[in-house]
Amino acid sequence: MNRVLIIGAGGVGRVVAHKCAQNSEIFEHITLASRTLSKCEAIRDEIKEKQNKSIDVAQVDADNVEELVKLIEEVKPYVVINVALPYQDLTIMDACLKTNVHYLDTANYEHPDTAKFEYKEQWAKDPDFKANGLMALLGSGFDPGVTNVFCAYAQKHYFDEIHTIDILDCNAGDHGYPFATNFNPEINIREVNSKGRYWENGKWIETEPMEIKMVWDYPEIGPKDSYLLYHEEEESLVKNIKGLKRIRFFMTFGESYLTHLKVLDNIGLTRIDPIEVDGCKVIPLHVVKALLPDPASLGPRTKGKTNIGVVCEGIKDGKKRKIYIYNVCDHQEAYKEVCAQCVSYTTGVPAMIGAKLMCEGKWMKAGTINMEQMDPDPFMEELNRQGLPWNVIEMDPEK
Ligand code: NDP
Repeated sequence: MNRVLIIGAGGVGRVVAHKCAQNSEIFEHITLASRTLSKCEAIRDEIKEKQNKSIDVAQVDADNVEELVKLIEEVKPYVVINVALPYQDLTIMDACLKTNVHYLDTANYEHPDTAKFEYKEQWAKDPDFKANGLMALLGSGFDPGVTNVFCAYAQKHYFDEIHTIDILDCNAGDHGYPFATNFNPEINIREVNSKGRYWENGKWIETEPMEIKMVWDYPEIGPKDSYLLYHEEEESLVKNIKGLKRIRFFMTFGESYLTHLKVLDNIGLTRIDPIEVDGCKVIPLHVVKALLPDPASLGPRTKGKTNIGVVCEGIKDGKKRKIYIYNVCDHQEAYKEVCAQCVSYTTGVPAMIGAKLMCEGKWMKAGTINMEQMDPDPFMEELNRQGLPWNVIEMDPEK
């Protein structure tokens, strides 16, 4: 019998809980724990209403290893699905090591004071996970996550050698607010405000934020301005896709979003260092977060689609080849199914799939493991079954 502990009851946690409950033949006992118990209870009640299934809820401070250990010992899960914030990755990993439980997350560790987007501190725990025969599956969301699996699938079935990868992330959803972020505002704004970076011919090349722009025609959506950002899956893909010469990541942003962000930036409201206001220490970005709509509240209002995929170019049987693998997700359809919009849906479904494959023993390997290191086929099959179907387009390699 597989018991699972989900930590984090935000947009993504909600989707993971719903999807685990839909797959109750695998996840026979589900506990959802988070800092605010009432959020877990609301999700529990939603699942009861939609699926007539029961899950347990608990309160936990995931920054506190001892509290986590106590909860894990009570719940006795086979795997902990960490969908709290990236700040909690290391404490939850440590608690899993102390209790001998497998671990999964969807974002790399972030230090609250500095935005680094790197796997270093999680990879440093590889020997400990190996020594305990435990798996830590890192980045089992969409990007990172499915994008890594798409690359591994391209490598396995379409190429002898992949030379270039472009990861293309488009959210064409409209929530009707002048400005709001589709997932945790703090994490989102930190990501967008960081310098861009891509990897070419063995070195990282840094760009100013939003310096490189292209227009990409996204299937089922149309042409959209897409900007080069650094994204964490590039770090592991560079290591694991042999023969790679270049990897880049692009995300779409509308004019209005970028203008709002520029204003916030110009007046210092995106700073993550504390400032003093009337004798109180405040972090400007936390003020912005408190004022913006909760991403979970965007679900019912958001219309339109997302399209996230990868374009790989390389060589097969001595000939040039270029393919595009992508998924399109509809915000309203996602909301109908699990009461959350696509940004949470496309992250939560792969988190559940990663945990399912671990429980089934189809994906089980000791150590800290990035997604492209596992066989992509069972994951790709599950994507089609669990609500994130994908397409492959053969493109002209000369264009
Ligand atoms: P939310 O902010 O909506 O939810 C985060 C949840 O974690 C909240 O319920 C919050 O509790 C809880 N939490 C925060 N700190 C603690 C703590 N110390 N102890 C216990 N619980 C805590 O974020 P999302 O659901 O949008 O994102 C969840 C994760 O998914 C993030 O790590 C994000 O980076 C990642 N992500 C990954 C993507 C991918 O494709 N790979 C895409 C989108 C997100 P409270 O309600 O009390 O604040």
